[in-house]
Amino acid sequence: MAQDLASVAADKTKAELALLRGLLEHGLLIDCGVPGIYGRGPVFEDTLQRFNDFVSRLTVHDQATPLHFPPVMNRTYMERVDYLESFPHLAGIIFSFKGTDLQHHELVSKVRAGEDWSQLQSMTEVVLTPAACHPLYPICTGTLPESGKLIDLTSYCFRHEPSPDPARMQMFRMREHVRMGKPDAVVAWREMWMERGIALLKDLGLDAYLVAANDPFFGRGGRMLAVNQREQQLKFEIVTPITSSEIPTAIMSFNYHQDHFSKLYDIRSSDGETAHTACLGFGLERIMIALFKTHGFAPARWPAAVRQKLWP
Ligand code: ATP
Ligand code: ZN
Repeated sequence: MAQDLASVAADKTKAELALLRGLLEHGLLIDCGVPGIYGRGPVFEDTLQRFNDFVSRLTVHDQATPLHFPPVMNRTYMERVDYLESFPHLAGIIFSFKGTDLQHHELVSKVRAGEDWSQLQSMTEVVLTPAACHPLYPICTGTLPESGKLIDLTSYCFRHEPSPDPARMQMFRMREHVRMGKPDAVVAWREMWMERGIALLKDLGLDAYLVAANDPFFGRGGRMLAVNQREQQLKFEIVTPITSSEIPTAIMSFNYHQDHFSKLYDIRSSDGETAHTACLGFGLERIMIALFKTHGFAPARWPAAVRQKLWP
């Protein structure tokens, strides 16, 4: 008999708590006192870097340009791309103290007394990066080369979604490839990657499959945005069962932005037309957690075929 949604969700929560306990007990993750914020133990980190190397070996002929950005970015970038219209509940804005001596005394006494001290903070010029590709578009203003551009980025990303699910962290790493260029080339690249992504994850023994998806847009207005995104097939995810087979987890995402970022930042193809952009993201921690859940907490005992890929 089909389980109802509430009992599927309850089973998922139980499985999340059990998985989190296992990851902590095996020293893979380290509790930092807040749901969704974890230290990474040596085995977790080593395996994650091996996954990264595996991806780099598979994509070496793509000749993507690696770029690195810190996990904070200019606040105006977040404002310009309408992130606060769509995801105000996930955004992380950095505040700091800019007051006088007197206000400093007030701040310290409120902190000591356990009172609310948020009124003594002011917004700074920086926000936590919500997706690895966001700092990229503003530096790409201008005309792209004939074949467009392909960039390889990894960043810690912040989303305020505290959860007992170890696969839903507040700070996690996203590795992205971002393609910019003429619409046909961008669409073909995304299609090529959907197949390649599934093959790559199946090679690691994960039961991975592609689904149409939408972003978690906020509020009533957000429901329309989600429907549009699905109708236009702008977002796909590769999902795998981690803590529930009925509610699988997205471990890789493919987003087609069309001219959303390039119009804002005036990114043009070699023919002078507004370029199109798309990105794909590997959720690095989620992929690790899927591997630990599927093959066990000790990589030394993972199936030989999987080990061959990661320990070549
Ligand atoms: P979800 O639907 O699960 O909330 P998303 O659609 O918001 O994910 P994207 O914005 O497409 O995710 O992010 C790219 C990738 O980053 C996802 O495919 C996923 O693997 C990973 N990711 C997203 N949110 C989290 C999170 N809170 N913790 C860990 N990894 C995440
Ligand atoms: Zn992106």
